Amino acid sequence: QLSSKLQDVFKQLKGKGKLTEKDLKVALREVKLALLEADVNFKVVKNFIKTIEERAVGQEVMESLTPGQQVIKIVNEELIALMGSTQSKLTFATRGITTIMMVGLQGAGKTTTSAKLAALIKSQGKRPLLVACDVYRPAAIEQLTKVGKQVNVPVFSMGIDVNPVDIAKASMEYAKENNFDVVLIDTAGRLHIDEVLMDELKCIKSSLKPQEILLVVDAMTGQDAVNVAEAFDNALGLDGVVMTKLDGDSRGGAALSVKAVTNKPIKYVGMGEKLGDLEPFHPERIASRILGMGDVLTLIEKAQQNIDEKKAKELEAKFRKAEFNFEDFLEQMEQVKKMGPISQLIGMIPGLNTAKLGDVQIDDKQMNYVEAIILSMTKEERLNPSLLNMSRKKRIAKGSGRDIQEVNRLIKQFEQMQTMMKQFSGAMKGKKGKFKFP
Ligand code: GDP
Ligand code: MG
Repeated sequence: QLSSKLQDVFKQLKGKGKLTEKDLKVALREVKLALLEADVNFKVVKNFIKTIEERAVGQEVMESLTPGQQVIKIVNEELIALMGSTQSKLTFATRGITTIMMVGLQGAGKTTTSAKLAALIKSQGKRPLLVACDVYRPAAIEQLTKVGKQVNVPVFSMGIDVNPVDIAKASMEYAKENNFDVVLIDTAGRLHIDEVLMDELKCIKSSLKPQEILLVVDAMTGQDAVNVAEAFDNALGLDGVVMTKLDGDSRGGAALSVKAVTNKPIKYVGMGEKLGDLEPFHPERIASRILGMGDVLTLIEKAQQNIDEKKAKELEAKFRKAEFNFEDFLEQMEQVKKMGPISQLIGMIPGLNTAKLGDVQIDDKQMNYVEAIILSMTKEERLNPSLLNMSRKKRIAKGSGRDIQEVNRLIKQFEQMQTMMKQFSGAMKGKKGKFKFP
């Protein structure tokens, strides 16, 4: 797996004090193989490695105090650059109706994504209309009607006996008459790219002159996604790409290549089958996912900015004496919160972001629950957790609105932590202060 491979490589680098050119060569060879295994386009990989080499070889890394970290930073930065550094938004017409044309192969997720996007646009206060131009796939119209209903966006259709170009034209009239300001055209796909399909799409394009032609591609198809993107771009001129099914096991190799090969930005990513599962594309998140290790440097920077040095010293002393209590715990949580949403931090912690990107939101909530539980303790209880008997736990559960199991779990985790600290400080005593915390 790419992420674990890269992690191994970086682990080796991290152990080094100074990095030699030879070390770098070996490391980059591994990075190259790992990227290729993740289905990243060969030419893209080659250029990528070359860029890293140019940046890394020489002063920048050699004279640095932590060369391993520098390489991590460079690889991360270049991955992000490869996918287009900034987040690309949709273009809306300055006046009149904005037309968005969804194109792509069959099963890529056009219909689903059209509804997802319509929902998103609607939530921005606009009035979108979905248009059913897939007259070939059986039940395509019903499918769009169904998802349109789910997101509460009207669907314009004329059955299957009308030419898609005429449907598209008629929908624009309808939108004008009924005050819609965004029209989303759900077009037909084919299993493979063919002339007939492209001609039809070209006709729709020339009669509607859409602001956005968005290609929907399936991340799971890996290298094929890149070829598809190239073909559609050559025929139609794309404005952007939506990459779907990134919730699957795809490592994102396709996302890496599509931008590099077509030079068209990925604007959104599909993270699930549900109609809320569409997210703006964040190159840095995909880079983290591909690296599987998070942006260690940012985490370190943020931590340094925000954790009060003196408090950290005090905590350190408490850790040593294993006197850490719930008051300290709470204080530490406040410090962590200052660094920004925990969901952002999680992604920066090596080894933790193997969880699906979509799951991450939960952790902010989780943190609030923990806080609620601790805040429901009396000061006495916080300073002296051994006071926490059953009736006190019940009161805390009630006070925090969490159930008793959750309270128990937190206390148990806390006790385990204390035990660990005791063992830890015991182990350190023998070292006569040589051991530097942490
Ligand atoms: P179309 O032929 O391009 O219109 O594709 P559809 O919108 O009908 O989607 C094909 C299948 O892919 C459906 O089962 C969708 O639920 C599924 N799908 C679409 N987007 C995503 C996504 O982001 N994640 C997952 N897991 N499934 C998706
Ligand atoms: Mg469809």
